[in-house]
Amino acid sequence: MSALAPYACDPERSRGRRIAEPSAPPRNDHQRDRDRVVHCTAFRRLVYKTQVFVNHEGDLFRTRLTHSLEVAQLGRSIARALALNEDLVEAIALAHDLGHTPFGHAGQDALDDCMKPHGGFEHNLQSLRVVDVLEQRYPRFDGLNLTLETREGILKRCSLKIAEQMQAEEPDGPARRIVAGEQPSLEAQLANLADEMAYNAHDVDDGLRSGLLAMTQLTEVPLFADHRAAALMDHPQLQQAPERRLLAETLRRLLSAQVADVIAATIANLQSHAPGNADAVRALPAMVQFTPPMREQVTALKRFLFAALYRHPQVADTTLRAREVVRALFAAYADAPQQLPDEHRLAHRQIGLRAVADYIAGMTDRFASREYLRLTGQVAFEGQ
Ligand code: MG
Repeated sequence: MSALAPYACDPERSRGRRIAEPSAPPRNDHQRDRDRVVHCTAFRRLVYKTQVFVNHEGDLFRTRLTHSLEVAQLGRSIARALALNEDLVEAIALAHDLGHTPFGHAGQDALDDCMKPHGGFEHNLQSLRVVDVLEQRYPRFDGLNLTLETREGILKRCSLKIAEQMQAEEPDGPARRIVAGEQPSLEAQLANLADEMAYNAHDVDDGLRSGLLAMTQLTEVPLFADHRAAALMDHPQLQQAPERRLLAETLRRLLSAQVADVIAATIANLQSHAPGNADAVRALPAMVQFTPPMREQVTALKRFLFAALYRHPQVADTTLRAREVVRALFAAYADAPQQLPDEHRLAHRQIGLRAVADYIAGMTDRFASREYLRLTGQVAFEGQ
């Protein structure tokens, strides 16, 4: 790694792991975190979990695995330009969706409804729970025993009530900055923004390729239309080429423009506030940001995606069905815990319905559909 900026998180000054471990040269602690994430079970499952489209709807759409890789790529590029800790950004990016339920947001909302009387369900919190508790791969501890910096980035945000509970259990832990009303590290801020950049771009891509969005709709979104026009201006032959090529060039430009914008805006923010070290960042406003004009354009794109894609009747139908499937699974295991596999049945005796939520949250789309068929005799989604 090249020299870190003074406000970057230096692995040599990590706030450490919950259980002390000897270091593992030549890797530093944040590289080691990243490697632990890549080798964990929940990471492999991301390949069969989806964001907007359910896994069986097509093989070409993003899964949470490809999404996480895109977030890591964008995050690393920007981190390098800002002399931030690339390895930490990568570790956070690769782990940020580990706690996501099957069937995207629909699954998470349904699980939250089911768990409301029992402490609720938040996917960021669940991602942290995966790396802190649920992975069982090491002889001496549960979870992956990651550094505080990585854990704080994974938690991202949670309700204040939960943060206060976490704080009581671990005063110097990942919730401390939420209770204190402070920002996380620049690396965590960056992973969060890279997440937003990645899904905006790939949801446009998947939306168009699925046929749920039409190019004519997108030409009304300035951020997209401007880059499409510029691509055509530079490469007029794209007019005759298959639309895929123009779409790819448009999205490439759209992402590059956002990357350049974030780098410029963040450098300007850091220059004006001049934090002397990584801790000084916390009391400042968020430093890793778009410029106001880019933020406005990105917000317009998000608004468009919300109305045209996430609320598309076909997506809404799948969403409704996904909620029913998750609710039915929850009810089935809650009524008959003997249906849980041994390990989860044991956990259910100790922590009650939280064990059911953990089990369902860990499922891939396919496995959840199969369990639904087994437990209810019904097919989860038509066409499966
Ligand atoms: Mg994400």
